[in-house]
Amino acid sequence: MTFPDILPALKAQMSRLRGRLIANQPLAELTWFRVGGPAQVLFMPEDEEDLSYFLAHLPPEIPATVIGLGSNLIVRDGGVPGAVIRLGRGFSDIAVDDGLRIRAGAAVPDVKVARAAQEAAIAGLSFLRGIPGGIGGALRMNGGAYGSETKDVLVAARGVDRSGRICSFANAEMQYTYRQCGVPEDVIFTQALFQGTPGDPVAIGAEMGKITESREATQPIRSRTGGSTFKNPPGRKAWQLIDAAGCRGLIAGAAQVSQLHCNFLINQGGASAADIETLGETVRSRVRETSGVDLEWEIKRIGVAQQD
Ligand SMILES: Cc1cc2nc3c(=O)[nH]c(=O)nc-3n(C[C@H](O)[C@H](O)[C@H](O)COP(=O)(O)OP(=O)(O)OC[C@H]3O[C@@H](n4cnc5c(N)ncnc54)[C@H](O)[C@@H]3O)c2cc1C
Repeated sequence: MTFPDILPALKAQMSRLRGRLIANQPLAELTWFRVGGPAQVLFMPEDEEDLSYFLAHLPPEIPATVIGLGSNLIVRDGGVPGAVIRLGRGFSDIAVDDGLRIRAGAAVPDVKVARAAQEAAIAGLSFLRGIPGGIGGALRMNGGAYGSETKDVLVAARGVDRSGRICSFANAEMQYTYRQCGVPEDVIFTQALFQGTPGDPVAIGAEMGKITESREATQPIRSRTGGSTFKNPPGRKAWQLIDAAGCRGLIAGAAQVSQLHCNFLINQGGASAADIETLGETVRSRVRETSGVDLEWEIKRIGVAQQD
């Protein structure tokens, strides 16, 4: 499946663009599930100003979708129409500010922020050790683990909206709830400022070691997966509802509900995005039948289904 090539038309309107634009770029390799079709165009901006220029000059009828490290994402088999934006090197700076604060670009992997905090004797950011995404994804998803969430440590974030305007958001303006951010969907985050507390690098290292061990034991972290598929409903655990509905190990095509952690779906090799999404929807309907609970997808699904 390929989309009509809009690259020449876009380039003609963006003479001062510095980042890379690629037509019909496959996205599967940019996601943990390793499934899905291409981006009509993939844009990798040089820096925040370049991103702002691109968005300001992108015709309003062309949709723009940002992806991070693809650890919470299903790209559908027909690909993603419009522009897909992926932040890279120009958004990878990380620095300790004011002793207990860390400023990180949106493309920095969460684990690097956890390590930088440890080196700077800043406690409170170790939970990022276990989340395999990048800072942009953590800001959008209010990523969290082991009792801490992004909202607990965020001072402020910066981003660019669909019109190209650079904006900043104090913590309260992010309107965070569980795995959700209230900032309009069109905003692409470019940077975060985190605040920790004084800590001891040895103790922080031990905490991070425990997180790694616990992950290895309880989650299929070496598989092609997207992490927790569904949000925990208030007062309930999604995995328990899925288990009670008899879905542990359930298969659709080459996708399977993990035997180890049944809120994880796995591409066993050769699954399509449709296999994974169908499996997820089957789990949702079985849970609805057995417990009356309507599970809500935590994993984001983007793009269109394969056209026959
Ligand atoms: C093995 C495994 C374990 C996991 N464990 C956890 C866990 O413990 N806790 C947890 O919270 N999550 C967990 N996840 C899910 C995932 O890692 C997080 O949701 C992560 O924050 C997603 O970041 P990402 O960069 O991969 O974003 P992506 O998956 O690429 O995108 C996710 C969403 O964020 C948006 N987004 C990405 N970058 C930006 C940006 N710069 N600006 C605006 N929006 C953006 C995307 O549009 C999309 O809507 C796990 C995933 C896996 C595979």
